[in-house]
Amino acid sequence: MSETDKKIIIAIDGYSSSGKSSMARALASAIGYRYVDSGAMYRAVTLWGLRHGLVIDGKVDEDAIVAALPEINIDFLPIAGEGQHTLLDGEDVEREIRSLRVSDNVSQVAVIPAVRHHLVELQQRFGDEKGIVMDGRDIGTTVFPQAEMKVFVDASAETRARRRFLELQEKGVESAYEDVLANVRQRDHIDTTRAESPLVKASDAVSLDNSEMTIAEQNKWLIDLYHRTLDALI
Ligand code: C5P
Repeated sequence: MSETDKKIIIAIDGYSSSGKSSMARALASAIGYRYVDSGAMYRAVTLWGLRHGLVIDGKVDEDAIVAALPEINIDFLPIAGEGQHTLLDGEDVEREIRSLRVSDNVSQVAVIPAVRHHLVELQQRFGDEKGIVMDGRDIGTTVFPQAEMKVFVDASAETRARRRFLELQEKGVESAYEDVLANVRQRDHIDTTRAESPLVKASDAVSLDNSEMTIAEQNKWLIDLYHRTLDALI
């Protein structure tokens, strides 16, 4: 079997703003795999809750959100040259789900076990045909524990906040660096201490600290690991 015939599942987990989404997207595009941003799904549910008054200043009406889950329609629309945009009930919400308003509330929504179960099930369906790169917090531990390749990405909170701040600036989203740093720290805390599938490195994941790496370096590191993983499987 040639390398390109063998399709695998690639799980990329890590802290918020560790650059894992950019790496995952670049890898998927280089090897012709589908990319799925699982965080975007938690963000879309959060935006839905904000719009319906069920999420206000970090307080979540859990029962109402859980009851609404079957009617919250999340999908992805591939956009040439831009990866993909997240659709909420058919509306392109890619920009809105990246706002601080959503970032400030998303971890509180993501702690709800029924929300996690629902989204994990949707995420697992994307993996049915393999040939997928998915990034998130629990992909290697809960969504695809059988993934052939698992990476756990980390970088200091300051490095991650600086990157996120620059990214928001580029997108024209107003924010202050201190607020972004506070949000990164708060999400780290909530994501690592929640009871249901907390952010933790899978025992068979390969660690990557990309604090001192350029984007080109980390992309090369990832694609090298992909080839090594396939070589070991064939
Ligand atoms: O990856 P991103 O930062 O966009 O994810 C937003 C939030 O969604 C995270 O801070 C985390 O609380 C939650 N999340 C999660 N599990 C995932 C992906 C994201 O709990 N697999």
